[in-house]
Amino acid sequence: MARYTGPSCRLCRREGTKLFLKGERCFGDKCPYTRRGSVPGQHGSGSGRKRVKEYGMQLREKQKAKRYYGILEKQFKNYFVAADKKEGQTGENLLTLIERRLDNVIYRMGIADSRKEARQFVLHGHFRLNGKNVNIPSLIVKVGDVISLKENSRKSEKFKMLIEDIAGRTIPKWLEVDKEAIIVKVIALPLREDVEFPFEEHLIVELYSK
Ligand code: SF4
Repeated sequence: MARYTGPSCRLCRREGTKLFLKGERCFGDKCPYTRRGSVPGQHGSGSGRKRVKEYGMQLREKQKAKRYYGILEKQFKNYFVAADKKEGQTGENLLTLIERRLDNVIYRMGIADSRKEARQFVLHGHFRLNGKNVNIPSLIVKVGDVISLKENSRKSEKFKMLIEDIAGRTIPKWLEVDKEAIIVKVIALPLREDVEFPFEEHLIVELYSK
């Protein structure tokens, strides 16, 4: 199945929540969802929405997570299977595993405006992992891994501007970022509280456990 390439804001409309897929725009008054309470074409919550059934809620929560992180169904299911095999709560394992994707780490270090942009940066080979070239956005990082921006990329006008923005970004505590050298080190595994979006992951677990 091909990756979704349509308008990002439409996905927020479909899920009935802000998914923060367009970087800075999502936080300003240009966000269609903030401006109108919903985006064009959506029926408002006060217009007698049909009662959402249990299966529908579970499905929507899964779709929300997939869209938030930009992951396709097959890969998302694989993450679930891996999370289910680990000790602890499966839903929590699932989200914290996905947080460890390389594209998410690049986004959380503050150099990309969105996860989509972070994925492009990795695909275009702008980063190294432990000193080696890497171009796999789905790669799962582990404690001790070091991700760095390539020297040539640092010199490009685009990255010069993005680097200036890093200074003001909040970095999650499981990452240690050298904002001068543009190096990020994974110093711990992410916890559930490090996931920014308020997912109800138990709904995803219930869906896959049917
Ligand atoms: Fe969603 Fe608003 Fe961002 Fe568009 S601008 S992706 S509607 S949060």
